[in-house]
Amino acid sequence: MPQSFSFQIQTRCTHTHARAGVFVTPHGIVETPRFMPVGTLANVKTLTPAQLLDTGAQMVLSNTYHLHLQPGEKIVAAAGGIHKFMGWNGPILTDSGGFQVFSLSEMRTVTEAGVRFRSPHDGAIIELSPERSIEIQNQLGADVIMAFDECPPYPASREDVVAATARTVRWLERCIAAHDRPEAALFGIVQGGVYPDLRVAAAKKLVEFDLPGYAIGGVSVGEPTDLMEMVVRVTTPILPDHKPRYLMGIGTYREMAQAIASGIDLFDCVIPTRLARHGAALVAGERWNLKNAQFREDFRPLDPSCPCYTCQNFSRAYISHLVRAKELLAYTLLSIHNVTELIRFTTRIRDAILGDRFTDEFAQYLQVQS
Ligand SMILES: [Zn+2]
Repeated sequence: MPQSFSFQIQTRCTHTHARAGVFVTPHGIVETPRFMPVGTLANVKTLTPAQLLDTGAQMVLSNTYHLHLQPGEKIVAAAGGIHKFMGWNGPILTDSGGFQVFSLSEMRTVTEAGVRFRSPHDGAIIELSPERSIEIQNQLGADVIMAFDECPPYPASREDVVAATARTVRWLERCIAAHDRPEAALFGIVQGGVYPDLRVAAAKKLVEFDLPGYAIGGVSVGEPTDLMEMVVRVTTPILPDHKPRYLMGIGTYREMAQAIASGIDLFDCVIPTRLARHGAALVAGERWNLKNAQFREDFRPLDPSCPCYTCQNFSRAYISHLVRAKELLAYTLLSIHNVTELIRFTTRIRDAILGDRFTDEFAQYLQVQS
């Protein structure tokens, strides 16, 4: 692990593989397990950094693919790096662009060298390779950067997943060779689709590189929840116990609780801010549509037990009014609550692990689906 990083496990759950830890980065600590809000274009949509801090956010994720297209890494670097550019002094993680290249871009060609695709903005041909992704991420200047991987879709044939997984390992070697910035920790990404033996083999291979942290990628790409949970259960134990483990793109209550029980430490998902933009709130494990008539004259807070600014100051009726009127404040207030809610879910689990009450307090989320 680079000098300015460390990961300490404080307590382990005595019934599951869950652990509570502290991940130290050059821009501060991340107390794990913890949900990381997504700031795709160097902002968590509709939230100022001060509002973001109040949600309990520690590490924030941003997207290499999107920032490369707009405004371009040169502008971010000229601004003094992504922390200064977006006014967020806490830890930042950038993904490699691999997932977006494989899920969003049309007309892409994949070769051993890398991926060519058309910019959705102006149609220009863009090339991303392991070296280029690492170069862009190092110019952006995040604390944690991710290896450039090939993320197979779901469903995909075993043959295709074998090829993508092997290429991801070869690309990782090139990412490691291209990474020369000690202020950033490079995490590897385990692929392998929904094939448990491929996941285990890929994880074992990646561990040989002795990276500062590991992620499980290629999940939540359309596969049934039970398959996703199986992938996490078989892969996580192979990853080094003393390094942070990150499950990419996951952010529902049950999936996070299950993954934490398997030994995952970090999560990210666009769900809380995306729901907010659709006028929906996450409350006590449910999704509420604030346009529903029942909220028009409901003068209680969204969640009376929630410490967030929105719940401390506004009623369901007021937020329902703002959503119906399409007032921009609606999206800010709902994002504040939704981001707080998911972070608070993971910090409540963390507290439960520290007190060895995890399996008692979160039993409803921990039964394995048959
Ligand atoms: Zn709230």
